Amino acid sequence: MTAPVVIIGTGLAGYNLAREFRKLDSETPLLLITADDGRSYSKPMLSTGFGKQKDADGLSMAEPGAMAVQLNAEVRTHTRISGIDPGHQRLWIGAESVFYRDLVLAWGAAPVTVPLAGDAADQLYPINDLEDYARFRAAIEGKQRVLILGAGLIGCEFANDLMLGGYAVELVAPCEQVMPTLLPAAAATAVQRGLEALGARFHLGPVLMRLDHANQGLLAHLSDGSQIACDAVVSAIGLRPRIDLAAAAGLQTNRGVMVDRYLRTSHANIYALGDCAEVEGLNLLYVMPLMSGARALAQTLAGQPAAVSYGPMPITVKTPACPLVVSPPAVGSIGQWQVEGEGADIKALCLDSDGKLLGYALTGKAVMEKLALNRQLPPLLA
Ligand code: FAD
Repeated sequence: MTAPVVIIGTGLAGYNLAREFRKLDSETPLLLITADDGRSYSKPMLSTGFGKQKDADGLSMAEPGAMAVQLNAEVRTHTRISGIDPGHQRLWIGAESVFYRDLVLAWGAAPVTVPLAGDAADQLYPINDLEDYARFRAAIEGKQRVLILGAGLIGCEFANDLMLGGYAVELVAPCEQVMPTLLPAAAATAVQRGLEALGARFHLGPVLMRLDHANQGLLAHLSDGSQIACDAVVSAIGLRPRIDLAAAAGLQTNRGVMVDRYLRTSHANIYALGDCAEVEGLNLLYVMPLMSGARALAQTLAGQPAAVSYGPMPITVKTPACPLVVSPPAVGSIGQWQVEGEGADIKALCLDSDGKLLGYALTGKAVMEKLALNRQLPPLLA
């Protein structure tokens, strides 16, 4: 019997690749393996669920059984890969070995964790999949006050969404502005003011040191000596591509699992896609790159090798309190921010020394200029 194409992960990367592959090849056995419950969902919706009053079941788009039928594939859920043996084209699930024709690592990125003192240190909720989201919703059922660690894109989105859902929100982050790696100061201030107008309170500078149970809730102790009473804490301090199993199998890794334009790792017949992949030095934790990658890789797996290319990939941040679209300049590019506008409406352009557009951040009414600006942006991977 032919060994199957095996995809590890049923997130947007895994399921979209399977869909694209089935458009080109309806025959080859396909096996998807996932550590989670295998439901199909759109992860970006996790930070809009409270405003839309959708619980985890409401965000789920299909059960794994339905996905298996749709994809003519086997979907193994709650199954964690424990090792890869590239020399024999097999992987390990504990003591069980599974052979593959081609293996695709689409196993995503894991929430960064920080050491925390206190008797409620286990009350920290990362929200990186549907099951995390269900756990967090259960934890704050009937409660009111949420503390968010991190004021990056995800922290700000959760802040906006939780406030739309009726929660009081405070944010703590060891930085001077929101989304420090994405936004120039004027745009960050516009977003912060928009969230503050909805009721958010920011504590920028300190970090959370200790979390204790107190008065039927929690008490958070910050490094500047201040304390915040809350009912639950969301951890949104970042994600780290999962590389450990790949590195242990001898695959080249850096920030992510390193792949070329064909999404090939350093080992034959093993590919990587989505949040875990570093494509020619780019580890982009967004949906658009993985969709382009899924289309290209499906062709490669179907016998017509195709290289991936990325056009400009602006990100629409889901902070309706202050609409925001950002296209960060490519890492390593040298430019200056030029800022126009004031208050909520900021147009910030990052220009090189010849005046060419490298990236932008648009807030408020300025987001209407995004289409015109997108035409001037350089591709991320030509
Ligand atoms: P995941 O969805 O993380 O899937 C990983 C899969 O691998 C899971 O099925 C997991 O169970 C499985 N797995 C992991 N380890 C193992 C193992 N050892 N064995 C078996 N299975 C394993 N991007 C945008 O472009 N726009 C947005 O608006 C946006 N909003 C977002 C909002 C939130 C709250 C978050 C968290 C992210 C957001 N993103 C957004 C990012 C985007 O959602 C991700 O880039 C994308 O979903 C990653 O998909 P993935 O399939 O690579 O990883």
